[in-house]
Amino acid sequence: MMYAVARGLSTMTHLVHRYFVPDSLRNYNHLVIAGSQAASIDPFNWALALQQARSMGVEITEIWLTHGHGDHIAGVPEQFDGPVRGHPDIGSRCQLTHQLEGDSRFEFNGYPVQVIATPGHTFDHVCFFLPAIPALVAGDTLFNAGVGNTRSGDTDTLYASIERLKALPAATRLYNGHDYMPTNVQFTESIVGPTEVTRRWQEACASTDEHSRPVTTLGDEQALNLFLQPESGQLKAALDLPADSSPQMVFRSLRQRRDQW
Ligand SMILES: [Zn+2]
Repeated sequence: MMYAVARGLSTMTHLVHRYFVPDSLRNYNHLVIAGSQAASIDPFNWALALQQARSMGVEITEIWLTHGHGDHIAGVPEQFDGPVRGHPDIGSRCQLTHQLEGDSRFEFNGYPVQVIATPGHTFDHVCFFLPAIPALVAGDTLFNAGVGNTRSGDTDTLYASIERLKALPAATRLYNGHDYMPTNVQFTESIVGPTEVTRRWQEACASTDEHSRPVTTLGDEQALNLFLQPESGQLKAALDLPADSSPQMVFRSLRQRRDQW
């Protein structure tokens, strides 16, 4: 009986474990844990992924890729005995067993996973939404106080993808691919000046490092992230845009400012 209870508890464990990859690109990698199994997301360094899994007492049984940029697929081992999921365009660079094209769903050790097609940063980008937590593994689509660059994608396409993510529950925890929060909060202040909201996150950045950085929710991002506020009259004024500018135009102008900042 005791055994059954203990086993039941561990089977119910479902969370996202974030860890920092010590490199100049400031990558975050993640393990999506479901019971004793883990999915490694965008492994940059396979040895580090295995070490993190060991420290969490789980075994990596799947690999999920958000997109095909080198710093997101570099650690995918040549031989892996389990599903490797990603957009078909990544297939030329590493072996996929499950192609993710468009929106889809699958189960990971009994827990639902929703694949959301989010082109824009790249055309092969997907996000993983875990409704039972709820959490969003967003890769390089949505960052803290920012969005991905569109150097190998398209800004209007990214706008449409971000609008879709806004429909997810406000309590959704946001896990993204890089530690960009401190710079993005500074960028935000460069546009709208310090506000109560930016000050709060500025302080949160100052009292943490890349390992302990806070995890925001989509609700937090709605208040902080200017890219989620393209209808804001105040933002249009700050960007010197006419009051009747379309949200796409505001988003484009903001992305351009961030590229030049
Ligand atoms: Zn990328």
